Amino acid sequence: MATIPYKIYLSEEELPQAWYNVRADMKVKPAPLLNPATGAPMTEDDLSAVFCRELARQELDNDTPYIEIPREIRDFYKMYRPSPLVRAYCLEQKLDTPAKIYYKFEGNNTSGSHKLNSAIAQAYYAKQQGLRGVTTETGAGQWGTALSMACAYLGLDLHVFMVKCSYEQKPFRREVMRTYGASVTPSPSPTTAIGRDILARFPDTVGSLGCAISEAVEDAVSHEGYRYVLGSVLNQVLLHQSVIGLETQAALDKYGVKPDMIIGCAGGGSNLGGLIAPFVGQMLRGEAQYDIVAVEPASCPSLTRGKFAYDFCDTGKICPAAKMYTLGSGFMPSPSHAGGLRYHGMSPIVSQLYHDGYLRAVSVEQTKVFEAATFFARCEGILPAPESSHAIRVAMDEAIRCRETGEAKTIVLGLTGTGYFDMYAYGAFNDGTMSDHIPTDDDIARGLANLPHLGE
Ligand SMILES: *Cc1c(COP(=O)(O)O)cnc(C)c1O
Repeated sequence: MATIPYKIYLSEEELPQAWYNVRADMKVKPAPLLNPATGAPMTEDDLSAVFCRELARQELDNDTPYIEIPREIRDFYKMYRPSPLVRAYCLEQKLDTPAKIYYKFEGNNTSGSHKLNSAIAQAYYAKQQGLRGVTTETGAGQWGTALSMACAYLGLDLHVFMVKCSYEQKPFRREVMRTYGASVTPSPSPTTAIGRDILARFPDTVGSLGCAISEAVEDAVSHEGYRYVLGSVLNQVLLHQSVIGLETQAALDKYGVKPDMIIGCAGGGSNLGGLIAPFVGQMLRGEAQYDIVAVEPASCPSLTRGKFAYDFCDTGKICPAAKMYTLGSGFMPSPSHAGGLRYHGMSPIVSQLYHDGYLRAVSVEQTKVFEAATFFARCEGILPAPESSHAIRVAMDEAIRCRETGEAKTIVLGLTGTGYFDMYAYGAFNDGTMSDHIPTDDDIARGLANLPHLGE
């Protein structure tokens, strides 16, 4: 077997031509989205009022295993894909471990994260449908940035509702979006009925993702020629993100490498769902076995401490309800520096796979995460996003365990992005002022007290 290069690339011919839809191989399908008012399953027509028609179709397609990636999207992917699969030789050496560590690096584009993989697909289908533009929310700002790049490329208008505290704390993200032509509104805002209502009741609120989602949906349905798009959680997003896992598998296969453990951070579940999709597919078909690990922040532990139930996806309760591991749509995570992981729920696909035992979940505290991030930056060079560093933490812990047991395990981790816009967080860590917030059992119970009685 040839020595494994530092970076494994794929040629253009080896790039995936189709996304893999893991639902086709799931024996128990993810539960359908429900109309929050009537409790009835959402149909393609229902969903098409909010989402683009083709995306509504993809959302409901539980059966087609491979869905062709349109040529225009593949052409866009070629500008920044394949993303490298890197053998972390330096990290292995510093940890003095017999484990072999690989990371799939999705930070190699201007938006700095994996979110561009779905942003370009969603913008493409909006354009195909002849729409004028799309609306969305962004929390930490990565999704809005990715979508602004995709919309600029295709000539689509974009309205972004940005959670107010991020709007104020991350002015550079905001300006990147505006540079790519998006309009950016701090949420809650007086431009929507829901925003006005929340501002009247909580004038000092710093906003939340759930509230920004409600505003973006209202903005889309009240403007002719606009639809709403979402950067995580939904089945369609996991479908697009399968490009991460397909490339990873192709690169490993080239060198005959079989991973033992696959690790990803989990916010809404899209990078994790995309990375693991083809590997879980093999497990579902009985062809292989892997130890798959979802890593979430201890401050927002939906898989490890939440409940598997129908819940609202947004504060305003206007989006379809999803069956997922949730902390309750009213759960307010304490401030954390991994903004992309602060969502109360989890992808219905990842939730169902977790429920059925195809993956396990662990939670980690943010000071431990930044310790790992700093260690990784100093040996591998890349300055990781706080979100991604959750996966690094768990990979490092496993590699250290392997040093003690002598196991030469092969570990693959999803390195979802870079952390250049998170330097306040790194600053707090460097100054020793970062602390860990872990919700009490009472906090969790309060969040779960108001789950809707849907699908029962
Ligand atoms: C948004 C984001 C995440 C979390 O979102 P998922 O949908 O769970 O993948 C993780 N890492 C980065 C860098 C992000 O921007």
